[in-house]
Amino acid sequence: MNYTRRGFRLKDWRLHLAGGIVLTVVWSRPLPAEPSSVRVFTATASATGTPRVVPAQTEPLPPTGAVIGIDWGVKETATTSYAHDLPHAQHGHRSQAKLGHYDRMTARRRPKKGQAASKGYREAKKWRAKTCAKIARQHQDTARKWAKKVVRDHDAIAVEDFRPKFLAKTTMARKAADAAIGATKQALIEIGRKHARDVRLVHPAHTTMDCGSCGARTKHALPLSERTYTCTACGAFSPRDKNSARVMLVRAGLNPAGVEGARPPGALLQEAA
Ligand SMILES: [Zn+2]
Repeated sequence: MNYTRRGFRLKDWRLHLAGGIVLTVVWSRPLPAEPSSVRVFTATASATGTPRVVPAQTEPLPPTGAVIGIDWGVKETATTSYAHDLPHAQHGHRSQAKLGHYDRMTARRRPKKGQAASKGYREAKKWRAKTCAKIARQHQDTARKWAKKVVRDHDAIAVEDFRPKFLAKTTMARKAADAAIGATKQALIEIGRKHARDVRLVHPAHTTMDCGSCGARTKHALPLSERTYTCTACGAFSPRDKNSARVMLVRAGLNPAGVEGARPPGALLQEAA
């Protein structure tokens, strides 16, 4: 849960959250300044399982005069309008195999209806949770390293507002890719906000059908096998994902052609339709 300035209050070292929740905080370090936001999460695989609170401060970065558009994908987690592409990290490969192993183990040991859970079942569940947490940590680590670079080098970031659908039918590869995208998008939003950058979420509809140069929309969706986007209106052609990344820029009102001074002063995380 994320709370902005109006959603929390610190009083007598206790944290009052919107909705009448009061938490006694165990401070791991003194606060360097008045926090501007509060994030609360439970760590399932942690030893204690108690909520943790992370106070965040804004640390503005010097302006760069550069903007960037970002499109998410399976092979490349992120394709950008210029440099900064992020290939899909192969870590989690071994962990994924382990996860499948623990999945089957949990299924085998699952207690019958009305029976108490066995020690073996509880252990298998615990191991599974640990493996999940490890994969998430690896994704987060890669994501944060990349996001820091992107945020450092750009004033405004237009990013596809991707929402993964964790359907039962999707493949393991797709699930792994979606998890990587989710972690990367989250890191980008958080680090962008921390450094007071202009991060704009772009609705993902038709982003593969539009031309990043002239804005024309093709009549039919490009088949996934087609890796090159060719515009019938202006004749521009470019790799499919690069085109989508440029579409993000255009949709967010950060058109590279009109970058200098023409950029509307957008609010952080403004929804760009
Ligand atoms: Zn075009």
